Parts: sequence; structure tokens; C-alpha cells
Amino acid sequence: MQNLIKKDGFSFAFDPKACESCKGDCCRGESGYIWVNKEEIENIANFLGILKDEFIKNYLKKVKYRFSIKEIVINGEYQCLFFDEKNCRCQIYPVRPTQCRTFPFWDRYKDKKYINEVCKECPGIKLY
Ligand code: SF4
Repeated sequence: MQNLIKKDGFSFAFDPKACESCKGDCCRGESGYIWVNKEEIENIANFLGILKDEFIKNYLKKVKYRFSIKEIVINGEYQCLFFDEKNCRCQIYPVRPTQCRTFPFWDRYKDKKYINEVCKECPGIKLY
């Protein structure tokens, strides 16, 4: 299969075409953190055309010394505030956080004990 993405240290490849048919499983499901750093906060606020403080107040929650995008609960399922359920897309896609850009190649998934977790979440995973 062509266009599979592979990265050193991972025992799977990722087929980005899967995103076209997936219903945003990496943006919703169980509750989790969607971390944003200072630069990402600036970029997303600019993208939305609002002040940084307004963005922080309305869209982020503070977790100790970091910020995470708030979630909403729909039909008993948690989803990122920026997930557009109707169109199955990220509303801030061009400026989405690094955590979202790098999925599913997170260090956690280098460990084979978490492979089932990522397979369940992402239909684009192709195990070697
Ligand atoms: S910021 Fe976008 S890509 Fe990241 S979890 Fe939210 S909706 Fe998904």
C-alpha cells in the first residue's frame, strides 16, 4: 500500500486516507487532555480572531501549570470543543495543537502494551 507513514520506533504504519472515512475518533470518545502550549494558544486565538485572554477563558481549562482544550459531552461521549460533529472535522485544523498533528505517533504508542488502545481509536493503524 502506498502513502503509508512510518516512523522509527513504532511497530505500526499510519494510513492518512483513513481520516476521510473516520468519524473523528481521535477527537472524541473518552475524556482526555488536549494540551496547548503558549505559541499554540497565540496561534489559535489569532485564527479565531479573538484575544488570547478570551480564548483562554472560554476554550481552555488549566491543569496544574498547563492548559488543555475544554471538552463537551454529547450522547455520553466526550469530545473536543473544536470538533465539528456534523461535518466530522476540526474547526481549527490549520492551527491544531502539536498533540493532534502528531497523532498516532505518540511516544506512548511506541510501547507495545498500548497498541490495542491506538488500534481501537484509529482505523488508519496498520500493524507490521
Ligand atoms: S483540536 Fe482539532 S484535531 Fe485536536 S482534538 Fe480538537 S478537534 Fe481534534
